[in-house]
Amino acid sequence: MAKEDLECSFCGRKKPETNLLVAGLDAHICDRCIEQAHGIVVEESKEVDTNELDGDLMLKKPQEIKAFLDEYVIGQEYTKKVMAVAVYNHYKRLLQPKDDDDIEIQKSNIVMVGQTGTGKTLIAKTVAKMLNVPLAIVDATVLTEAGYVGEDVESILTRLLQAADYNLEKAQRGIVFIDEIDKIARKSDNPSITRDVSGEGVQQALLKLLEGTVVNVPPKGGRKHPDQKFIEVNTEHILFIAGGAFDGIERHITKRLNMQAMGFSASKNEDAVDLDNMLKYIIPKDLKDFGLIPEIIGRLPVLTHMDPLDKGTLRAILTEPKNAIVKQYKKLFIMDEIEFSITDGALDYLVEKAIEYKLGARGLRSLCEAILTDAMFEMPSSSEKELTVTREYAEGKLNKSTLKKLKAVS
Ligand code: ADP
Repeated sequence: MAKEDLECSFCGRKKPETNLLVAGLDAHICDRCIEQAHGIVVEESKEVDTNELDGDLMLKKPQEIKAFLDEYVIGQEYTKKVMAVAVYNHYKRLLQPKDDDDIEIQKSNIVMVGQTGTGKTLIAKTVAKMLNVPLAIVDATVLTEAGYVGEDVESILTRLLQAADYNLEKAQRGIVFIDEIDKIARKSDNPSITRDVSGEGVQQALLKLLEGTVVNVPPKGGRKHPDQKFIEVNTEHILFIAGGAFDGIERHITKRLNMQAMGFSASKNEDAVDLDNMLKYIIPKDLKDFGLIPEIIGRLPVLTHMDPLDKGTLRAILTEPKNAIVKQYKKLFIMDEIEFSITDGALDYLVEKAIEYKLGARGLRSLCEAILTDAMFEMPSSSEKELTVTREYAEGKLNKSTLKKLKAVS
């Protein structure tokens, strides 16, 4: 057969009509068919990979989720485990095909109780990063009932849409982190006749969102305005994570534990109560006693607590997480070809000061900044290419007034 007479066995094009004709044993294939076939292979392999949803959301197994969290979040073992399970179940629910067995998996919205600066936001951020879903972080204190000064609860969804670049599909399976949920607790146990604009009313408004409903959302935020076109957002698959310090909730926990102890004659070999970390005994009833309405508690069925950060944890936060503060400074200095190191003594000093001045994990960064500002200002223009921060160096840079200032801003 003459070369010109050869043809693609798939599309029948003659050799002169192709750019390339590849010969097989008994057949030929042209460049166009190769490209098409390649496209099919790519598509098919996407479908086979059940871990991947719409090419974006990566669902991992609970242990993998926990391992991912471990890279960024120090300690908080209990919360990381609970979170891993809740997130896994939530997205499994989202992926579940509709069948007729009437078993509907409920949403696993989460509430995290713990002092500020213990990693609540960090956990929410890390989960969103791992799943590759949009995350909106909102502060419950700015929310008010519709019609009052402040933001409507719908504004939460505006934020989520913005975080998803207005991709509705993505937003509808994103994560909303509602910070300071404790600040919208009912102020008194007595559901008063006067309107409670910032408390119970907001809780009521949040209810529907948490459970799953279709909300008309003004895409650019702001008040509902007749001229503004709304986007209909379905919150059914949005995972809500609420966080709060719930200052003083220990009182309710202690009271309840004491009552139980009386009720069950405390003689049994019960574990001694850990008075330094009462939060670990928290149950939904304590949230109710604190002032969350039962309906809200019911829609945040996964309850977990954050452990206070002790010395060891603070020390580890400085150096261990994937983007640990010390690693960040190393990277900054390396850009100016400066070798940066910090001694154990200096790290201990930082932790001591953070504890002494009650600066928490957030304060570690400000402390580092205060110690390193001079070096970061001077060294890029100098010929010195090495910086070792020792305890003495850190002490020299941090005087009392700086520390006081840090305490004031934290
Ligand atoms: P919260 O939301 O509980 O107030 P954040 O998550 O905002 O606290 O924590 C503040 C900062 O402190 C984080 O950005 C992080 O750098 C650090 N941090 C707090 N807790 C941890 C932790 N358990 N592991 C690692 N870093 C932490």
